[in-house]
Amino acid sequence: MLENLEKIKAQFKEELNGVNMKDEIERIRVAFLGKKGLVTEALKDLRNLDVEAKKVAGQQVNLLKDEIEKAIVEFQKTLEEREYQKEIANTERYDFSIPSDVTVGTLHPITIVQSQIEDIFKTMGFIIEDGLEIQTEFNNFEGVNIPKNHPARDMTDTYYLENGQLLKTHTSAAQNTIMRKYGAPKPGEPLKVLFPGRCFRNENIDASHENTFFQLEGMMIGDDISISNLIYFMKVLLSEVFERDVKVRLRPGFFPFVEPGFELDINCAICGGSGCPTCKHSGWLELLPCGMIHPNVLRLGGIDPDKYTGFAFGLGLTRLAMMKYNIKDIRLFNSGNLKQLRQFTI
Ligand SMILES: [Zn+2]
Repeated sequence: MLENLEKIKAQFKEELNGVNMKDEIERIRVAFLGKKGLVTEALKDLRNLDVEAKKVAGQQVNLLKDEIEKAIVEFQKTLEEREYQKEIANTERYDFSIPSDVTVGTLHPITIVQSQIEDIFKTMGFIIEDGLEIQTEFNNFEGVNIPKNHPARDMTDTYYLENGQLLKTHTSAAQNTIMRKYGAPKPGEPLKVLFPGRCFRNENIDASHENTFFQLEGMMIGDDISISNLIYFMKVLLSEVFERDVKVRLRPGFFPFVEPGFELDINCAICGGSGCPTCKHSGWLELLPCGMIHPNVLRLGGIDPDKYTGFAFGLGLTRLAMMKYNIKDIRLFNSGNLKQLRQFTI
Protein backbone atom coordinates (compact mmCIF):
# COMPACT_ATOMS: atom_id res chain seq x y z
CA MET A 1 0.00 0.00 0.00
CA LEU A 2 2.67 2.47 1.04
CA GLU A 3 4.74 1.46 -1.92
CA ASN A 4 1.78 2.21 -4.11
CA LEU A 5 1.52 5.68 -2.58
CA GLU A 6 5.16 6.36 -3.39
CA LYS A 7 4.49 5.36 -6.96
CA ILE A 8 1.48 7.65 -7.17
CA LYS A 9 3.57 10.51 -5.79
CA ALA A 10 6.35 9.94 -8.30
CA GLN A 11 3.89 9.69 -11.15
CA PHE A 12 2.23 12.92 -10.08
CA LYS A 13 5.54 14.77 -9.99
CA GLU A 14 6.50 13.52 -13.39
CA GLU A 15 3.20 14.45 -14.96
CA LEU A 16 3.16 17.87 -13.36
CA ASN A 17 6.62 18.63 -14.71
CA GLY A 18 5.42 17.95 -18.21
CA VAL A 19 2.63 20.50 -17.94
CA ASN A 20 2.90 23.73 -19.88
CA MET A 21 -0.67 24.86 -20.24
CA LYS A 22 -3.14 25.87 -17.59
CA ASP A 23 -5.90 23.57 -18.85
CA GLU A 24 -3.62 20.49 -18.58
CA ILE A 25 -3.61 20.94 -14.83
CA GLU A 26 -7.28 20.15 -14.65
CA ARG A 27 -6.64 16.86 -16.42
CA ILE A 28 -4.02 15.94 -13.82
CA ARG A 29 -6.28 16.97 -10.97
CA VAL A 30 -8.99 14.63 -12.25
CA ALA A 31 -6.46 11.84 -12.84
CA PHE A 32 -5.30 11.95 -9.19
CA LEU A 33 -8.05 13.52 -7.13
CA GLY A 34 -11.14 12.97 -9.30
CA LYS A 35 -13.83 10.37 -8.51
CA LYS A 36 -11.80 7.66 -10.16
CA GLY A 37 -8.44 9.31 -9.57
CA LEU A 38 -5.44 7.38 -8.26
CA VAL A 39 -5.56 8.96 -4.80
CA THR A 40 -9.31 8.44 -4.52
CA GLU A 41 -8.85 4.81 -5.48
CA ALA A 42 -6.09 4.44 -2.87
CA LEU A 43 -8.49 5.78 -0.26
CA LYS A 44 -11.04 3.21 -1.32
CA ASP A 45 -8.41 0.46 -1.07
CA LEU A 46 -7.95 1.27 2.62
CA ARG A 47 -11.04 -0.72 3.45
CA ASN A 48 -9.17 -3.94 2.58
CA LEU A 49 -6.62 -3.31 5.33
CA ASP A 50 -6.81 -4.23 8.98
CA VAL A 51 -7.45 -1.56 11.59
CA GLU A 52 -3.82 -0.75 12.46
CA ALA A 53 -2.57 -0.74 8.87
CA LYS A 54 -5.62 1.30 7.86
CA LYS A 55 -4.73 3.96 10.41
CA VAL A 56 -1.14 4.28 9.21
CA ALA A 57 -1.92 4.07 5.50
CA GLY A 58 -4.94 6.38 5.90
CA GLN A 59 -2.73 9.13 7.27
CA GLN A 60 -0.28 8.68 4.41
CA VAL A 61 -3.01 8.81 1.77
CA ASN A 62 -4.45 11.98 3.28
CA LEU A 63 -1.01 13.53 3.45
CA LEU A 64 -0.45 12.71 -0.19
CA LYS A 65 -3.86 14.11 -1.07
CA ASP A 66 -3.02 17.42 0.69
CA GLU A 67 0.38 17.51 -0.92
CA ILE A 68 -1.08 17.03 -4.41
CA GLU A 69 -3.80 19.63 -3.83
CA LYS A 70 -1.23 22.19 -2.68
CA ALA A 71 1.16 21.38 -5.50
CA ILE A 72 -1.63 21.87 -8.04
CA VAL A 73 -2.58 25.27 -6.61
CA GLU A 74 1.08 26.37 -6.54
CA PHE A 75 1.75 25.16 -10.01
CA GLN A 76 -1.33 26.92 -11.30
CA LYS A 77 -0.04 30.23 -9.88
CA THR A 78 3.39 29.64 -11.41
CA LEU A 79 1.85 28.95 -14.79
CA GLU A 80 -0.36 32.02 -14.62
CA GLU A 81 2.62 34.20 -13.79
CA ARG A 82 4.65 32.60 -16.57
CA GLU A 83 1.86 33.19 -19.09
CA TYR A 84 1.43 36.78 -17.92
CA GLN A 85 5.14 37.48 -18.36
CA LYS A 86 5.06 35.92 -21.79
CA GLU A 87 2.07 38.07 -22.71
CA ILE A 88 3.83 41.25 -21.58
CA ALA A 89 6.96 40.34 -23.49
CA ASN A 90 5.00 39.69 -26.67
CA THR A 91 2.77 42.73 -26.47
CA GLU A 92 3.73 45.75 -28.50
CA ARG A 93 2.69 48.59 -26.26
CA TYR A 94 1.85 50.97 -29.07
CA ASP A 95 0.82 49.96 -32.49
CA PHE A 96 1.42 52.99 -34.66
CA SER A 97 -0.07 51.32 -37.67
CA ILE A 98 -3.63 51.38 -36.30
CA PRO A 99 -5.53 54.29 -37.83
CA SER A 100 -6.54 56.83 -35.19
CA ASP A 101 -10.08 58.04 -34.86
CA VAL A 102 -9.24 60.46 -32.06
CA THR A 103 -10.43 63.98 -32.80
CA VAL A 104 -7.75 66.55 -32.13
CA GLY A 105 -8.89 69.67 -30.30
CA THR A 106 -8.22 73.18 -31.49
CA LEU A 107 -7.16 76.32 -29.66
CA HIS A 108 -9.82 78.75 -28.55
CA PRO A 109 -9.67 82.00 -30.57
CA ILE A 110 -8.83 83.97 -27.42
CA THR A 111 -5.99 81.58 -26.59
CA ILE A 112 -4.67 82.03 -30.12
CA VAL A 113 -4.62 85.83 -29.87
CA GLN A 114 -3.23 85.73 -26.33
CA SER A 115 -0.30 83.49 -27.19
CA GLN A 116 0.42 85.51 -30.30
CA ILE A 117 0.69 88.70 -28.22
CA GLU A 118 2.72 86.93 -25.53
CA ASP A 119 5.20 85.80 -28.19
CA ILE A 120 5.56 89.34 -29.54
CA PHE A 121 6.21 90.79 -26.08
CA LYS A 122 8.52 88.00 -24.99
CA THR A 123 10.84 88.86 -27.88
CA MET A 124 10.87 92.42 -26.54
CA GLY A 125 11.98 91.22 -23.10
CA PHE A 126 8.64 91.21 -21.28
CA ILE A 127 7.96 88.80 -18.41
CA ILE A 128 4.58 87.04 -18.51
CA GLU A 129 2.74 87.04 -15.19
CA ASP A 130 -0.44 85.21 -14.29
CA GLY A 131 -2.65 87.32 -12.01
CA LEU A 132 -5.16 85.72 -9.66
CA GLU A 133 -8.84 85.70 -10.61
CA ILE A 134 -9.98 86.10 -7.01
CA GLN A 135 -8.61 89.34 -5.64
CA THR A 136 -8.83 91.54 -2.60
CA GLU A 137 -10.84 94.72 -2.86
CA PHE A 138 -7.59 96.61 -2.31
CA ASN A 139 -5.83 95.06 -5.30
CA ASN A 140 -8.80 95.53 -7.58
CA PHE A 141 -9.64 99.10 -6.52
CA GLU A 142 -7.57 101.04 -3.96
CA GLY A 143 -4.26 99.68 -5.25
CA VAL A 144 -4.95 101.17 -8.67
CA ASN A 145 -6.15 104.49 -7.36
CA ILE A 146 -9.89 103.76 -7.23
CA PRO A 147 -10.79 104.63 -3.65
CA LYS A 148 -14.14 103.84 -2.04
CA ASN A 149 -16.94 106.10 -3.35
CA HIS A 150 -15.06 106.65 -6.60
CA PRO A 151 -17.57 106.76 -9.51
CA ALA A 152 -15.54 104.10 -11.37
CA ARG A 153 -16.68 101.58 -8.76
CA ASP A 154 -20.29 101.90 -9.82
CA MET A 155 -19.33 101.18 -13.41
CA THR A 156 -17.62 97.96 -12.45
CA ASP A 157 -20.03 95.92 -10.39
CA THR A 158 -18.69 92.42 -9.88
CA TYR A 159 -19.21 89.21 -7.90
CA TYR A 160 -18.21 89.25 -4.24
CA LEU A 161 -17.26 86.27 -2.14
CA GLU A 162 -18.52 85.79 1.40
CA ASN A 163 -15.04 86.58 2.74
CA GLY A 164 -15.10 90.03 1.11
CA GLN A 165 -12.85 89.13 -1.80
CA LEU A 166 -14.09 89.52 -5.34
CA LEU A 167 -13.72 88.29 -8.90
CA LYS A 168 -11.39 90.82 -10.49
CA THR A 169 -12.97 93.31 -12.86
CA HIS A 170 -9.77 94.09 -14.75
CA THR A 171 -6.25 92.78 -15.15
CA SER A 172 -5.00 95.96 -13.42
CA ALA A 173 -5.81 94.14 -10.18
CA ALA A 174 -2.42 92.44 -10.56
CA GLN A 175 -0.41 95.69 -10.81
CA ASN A 176 0.19 96.13 -7.10
CA THR A 177 1.22 92.50 -6.57
CA ILE A 178 3.61 92.59 -9.54
CA MET A 179 5.26 95.86 -8.43
CA ARG A 180 5.79 94.45 -4.96
CA LYS A 181 7.10 91.17 -6.35
CA TYR A 182 9.77 92.75 -8.57
CA GLY A 183 10.42 95.97 -6.68
CA ALA A 184 12.05 99.10 -8.08
CA PRO A 185 13.88 98.45 -11.37
CA LYS A 186 17.65 98.77 -11.65
CA PRO A 187 19.03 101.69 -13.70
CA GLY A 188 18.82 100.88 -17.41
CA GLU A 189 16.83 97.70 -16.72
CA PRO A 190 13.17 98.65 -16.80
CA LEU A 191 10.56 96.28 -15.43
CA LYS A 192 8.56 94.96 -18.38
CA VAL A 193 5.60 92.74 -17.56
CA LEU A 194 2.65 91.39 -19.49
CA PHE A 195 -0.28 89.94 -17.56
CA PRO A 196 -3.26 88.47 -19.39
CA GLY A 197 -6.26 87.17 -17.49
CA ARG A 198 -9.93 86.36 -17.17
CA CYS A 199 -12.05 89.20 -15.80
CA PHE A 200 -15.60 89.43 -14.55
CA ARG A 201 -18.40 91.98 -14.43
CA ASN A 202 -21.95 91.80 -13.31
CA GLU A 203 -23.42 92.56 -16.74
CA ASN A 204 -26.62 91.97 -18.60
CA ILE A 205 -25.43 89.73 -21.37
CA ASP A 206 -26.03 90.66 -24.99
CA ALA A 207 -24.11 90.56 -28.28
CA SER A 208 -21.48 92.97 -26.99
CA HIS A 209 -21.53 92.41 -23.19
CA GLU A 210 -20.38 89.35 -21.26
CA ASN A 211 -19.97 88.65 -17.54
CA THR A 212 -16.71 86.82 -18.26
CA PHE A 213 -14.12 88.17 -20.66
CA PHE A 214 -10.39 88.38 -21.20
CA GLN A 215 -8.02 91.28 -20.96
CA LEU A 216 -4.32 91.60 -21.42
CA GLU A 217 -2.36 94.26 -19.67
CA GLY A 218 1.20 95.39 -19.96
CA MET A 219 3.39 97.79 -18.07
CA MET A 220 6.90 99.07 -18.25
CA ILE A 221 8.51 100.90 -15.34
CA GLY A 222 11.94 102.46 -15.32
CA ASP A 223 13.92 105.61 -14.68
CA ASP A 224 13.29 107.06 -18.12
CA ILE A 225 10.00 105.78 -19.52
CA SER A 226 7.85 108.15 -21.54
CA ILE A 227 4.79 108.26 -23.76
CA SER A 228 6.96 107.67 -26.84
CA ASN A 229 7.94 104.26 -25.41
CA LEU A 230 4.25 103.50 -25.03
CA ILE A 231 3.47 104.48 -28.63
CA TYR A 232 6.36 102.42 -29.95
CA PHE A 233 5.27 99.23 -28.17
CA MET A 234 1.65 99.71 -29.17
CA LYS A 235 2.56 100.13 -32.84
CA VAL A 236 4.69 96.98 -32.84
CA LEU A 237 1.99 95.01 -31.08
CA LEU A 238 -0.88 96.08 -33.30
CA SER A 239 1.04 95.72 -36.56
CA GLU A 240 1.87 92.13 -35.62
CA VAL A 241 -1.63 91.26 -34.53
CA PHE A 242 -3.40 92.79 -37.52
CA GLU A 243 -0.62 91.87 -39.93
CA ARG A 244 -0.47 95.32 -41.48
CA ASP A 245 1.21 98.64 -40.80
CA VAL A 246 -1.10 100.11 -38.19
CA LYS A 247 -1.38 103.82 -37.58
CA VAL A 248 -2.27 104.82 -34.04
CA ARG A 249 -3.41 108.00 -32.43
CA LEU A 250 -3.87 108.98 -28.81
CA ARG A 251 -6.80 110.95 -27.48
CA PRO A 252 -7.01 112.12 -23.90
CA GLY A 253 -8.98 109.65 -21.78
CA PHE A 254 -9.70 109.45 -18.09
CA PHE A 255 -8.78 106.33 -16.13
CA PRO A 256 -7.99 106.56 -12.43
CA PHE A 257 -4.81 104.46 -12.63
CA VAL A 258 -3.04 106.58 -15.27
CA GLU A 259 -2.01 110.21 -15.46
CA PRO A 260 -2.08 111.32 -18.22
CA GLY A 261 -4.48 108.75 -19.65
CA PHE A 262 -5.31 108.08 -23.28
CA GLU A 263 -7.64 106.26 -25.57
CA LEU A 264 -5.62 104.65 -28.30
CA ASP A 265 -7.26 104.42 -31.71
CA ILE A 266 -6.06 102.53 -34.77
CA ASN A 267 -6.76 103.47 -38.34
CA CYS A 268 -9.76 101.63 -39.77
CA ALA A 269 -8.71 98.61 -41.83
CA ILE A 270 -11.96 98.50 -43.74
CA CYS A 271 -11.86 101.97 -45.31
CA GLY A 272 -8.17 102.67 -44.82
CA GLY A 273 -8.99 105.88 -42.97
CA SER A 274 -11.36 107.54 -45.45
CA GLY A 275 -14.45 106.77 -43.33
CA CYS A 276 -17.03 103.97 -43.39
CA PRO A 277 -19.95 102.73 -41.24
CA THR A 278 -17.65 100.46 -39.15
CA CYS A 279 -15.54 103.39 -37.98
CA LYS A 280 -18.58 105.67 -37.87
CA HIS A 281 -17.00 107.66 -40.72
CA SER A 282 -14.12 108.83 -38.54
CA GLY A 283 -11.43 106.64 -40.10
CA TRP A 284 -10.40 105.49 -36.59
CA LEU A 285 -11.36 102.62 -34.29
CA GLU A 286 -11.14 102.95 -30.53
CA LEU A 287 -9.01 100.10 -29.26
CA LEU A 288 -7.45 100.41 -25.85
CA PRO A 289 -6.95 102.60 -22.82
CA CYS A 290 -3.40 103.38 -21.82
CA GLY A 291 -1.30 106.03 -20.16
CA MET A 292 1.48 106.83 -17.75
CA ILE A 293 1.05 104.97 -14.45
CA HIS A 294 -0.42 107.27 -11.81
CA PRO A 295 2.12 108.26 -9.10
CA ASN A 296 -0.29 106.99 -6.43
CA VAL A 297 -0.30 103.54 -8.03
CA LEU A 298 3.50 103.42 -8.11
CA ARG A 299 3.71 104.61 -4.51
CA LEU A 300 1.20 101.98 -3.33
CA GLY A 301 3.27 99.37 -5.17
CA GLY A 302 6.37 100.41 -3.23
CA ILE A 303 8.01 102.26 -6.15
CA ASP A 304 9.12 105.87 -5.70
CA PRO A 305 7.23 108.00 -8.27
CA ASP A 306 9.85 110.75 -7.98
CA LYS A 307 12.49 108.39 -9.33
CA TYR A 308 10.54 106.16 -11.66
CA THR A 309 7.87 106.47 -14.32
CA GLY A 310 6.03 103.86 -16.29
CA PHE A 311 3.35 103.23 -18.83
CA ALA A 312 0.49 100.75 -18.73
CA PHE A 313 -1.99 99.61 -21.33
CA GLY A 314 -5.03 97.39 -21.09
CA LEU A 315 -6.16 95.45 -24.06
CA GLY A 316 -9.55 93.79 -24.35
CA LEU A 317 -8.41 90.38 -25.57
CA THR A 318 -11.96 89.31 -26.23
CA ARG A 319 -12.59 92.49 -28.17
CA LEU A 320 -9.35 92.09 -30.11
CA ALA A 321 -10.27 88.52 -31.05
CA MET A 322 -13.66 89.82 -32.25
CA MET A 323 -11.93 92.40 -34.44
CA LYS A 324 -9.28 90.04 -35.75
CA TYR A 325 -11.71 87.29 -36.71
CA ASN A 326 -14.65 89.54 -37.46
CA ILE A 327 -16.85 87.90 -34.79
CA LYS A 328 -20.01 89.90 -34.25
CA ASP A 329 -21.37 88.27 -31.07
CA ILE A 330 -19.28 88.16 -27.88
CA ARG A 331 -21.40 85.30 -26.53
CA LEU A 332 -19.77 82.92 -28.99
CA PHE A 333 -16.56 82.77 -26.91
CA ASN A 334 -18.13 81.18 -23.84
CA SER A 335 -20.83 79.32 -25.76
CA GLY A 336 -19.06 75.98 -26.10
CA ASN A 337 -20.24 75.93 -29.71
CA LEU A 338 -17.39 73.81 -31.05
CA LYS A 339 -18.54 73.99 -34.65
CA GLN A 340 -17.93 77.71 -34.60
CA LEU A 341 -14.98 77.82 -32.18
CA ARG A 342 -12.96 75.28 -34.16
CA GLN A 343 -12.64 77.31 -37.32
CA PHE A 344 -9.99 79.73 -36.05
CA THR A 345 -6.34 79.27 -36.69
CA ILE A 346 -3.25 81.34 -36.16
ZN1 LIG B 1 -13.62 102.80 -41.66
